[in-house]
Amino acid sequence: MSTLEFRNVFKRYRVRGKGAHDLLAVNDVSFALESGKTVALVGQSGSGKSTIAKLLLQLERPTSGQILLDGKPVGRHGNALRDYRHRVQMVFQDPFASLNPYHSVAHHLARPLKLHGRASTRTELEAGVARLLERVRLTPTDEFAQKHPHELSGGQRQRVAIARALAPAPTMLIADEPVSMLDVSIRLGVLNLLADLQREENLGVLYITHDLATARHFSDEILVMYRGQIVERGPADDVILDPQHEYTKLLAAAAPNPELRLKQLSGA
Ligand code: ADP
Ligand code: MG
Repeated sequence: MSTLEFRNVFKRYRVRGKGAHDLLAVNDVSFALESGKTVALVGQSGSGKSTIAKLLLQLERPTSGQILLDGKPVGRHGNALRDYRHRVQMVFQDPFASLNPYHSVAHHLARPLKLHGRASTRTELEAGVARLLERVRLTPTDEFAQKHPHELSGGQRQRVAIARALAPAPTMLIADEPVSMLDVSIRLGVLNLLADLQREENLGVLYITHDLATARHFSDEILVMYRGQIVERGPADDVILDPQHEYTKLLAAAAPNPELRLKQLSGA
């Protein structure tokens, strides 16, 4: 059982050039991720979602406020930071940009297994790679292990990126718009995989999206973000079926029929 918490987090950016000004990308945000639960972070482009992901991954530092793992402020240096990176992993939006075209799938997966001390001998690495590929349903695994990114479809690449995120055996997974660059017809397959893994591994998942239908279907709780603030939050069904904030109502109105949307996504 693990908890990753934001407590009154602010992130201010300096926007340079003519008309330089400060921009509050994250404005007093508090929430918690727990193992075994999926939280959806929903909001339009520019609302601050990716900044929250970067803060959670420690790619950025908060201007103020605290990030706590199991009640303790997260380690920012050395071994503490390395430990943190074992436990909190990320799946990015763009599966094309996140894989190196010169390296095989096996290389992409063996590297984090080595780095995080989960395998060292050649036999261990091969077995580890095969196990990761099995978990993201890329079989036969020995065939996929040899492939290079250009030989894979977008959905298969995103599965490799998910396998790589699983390599250090994390407790938390941050997925920033993980299917928005994929063909509509394969999105649901990748989201179902994430949901299966979340259950199998008891992961805590932050699912970042602007799609209310999948947010409702795949999450326990929804946080609605607008201009750096969480303007509404609650159990997924409550937020979608009975939105209180004007902005959530607008989002809900823009996605009028979640059931139909899911059917479209599954290609039915
Ligand atoms: P979202 O992921 O919801 O689209 P972002 O978190 O990427 O939103 O961005 C939130 C706001 O912060 C935007 O106005 C964006 O332009 C701004 N922003 C993000 N990163 C930086 C940066 N490094 N410097 C200045 N402004 C930034
Ligand atoms: Mg973003």
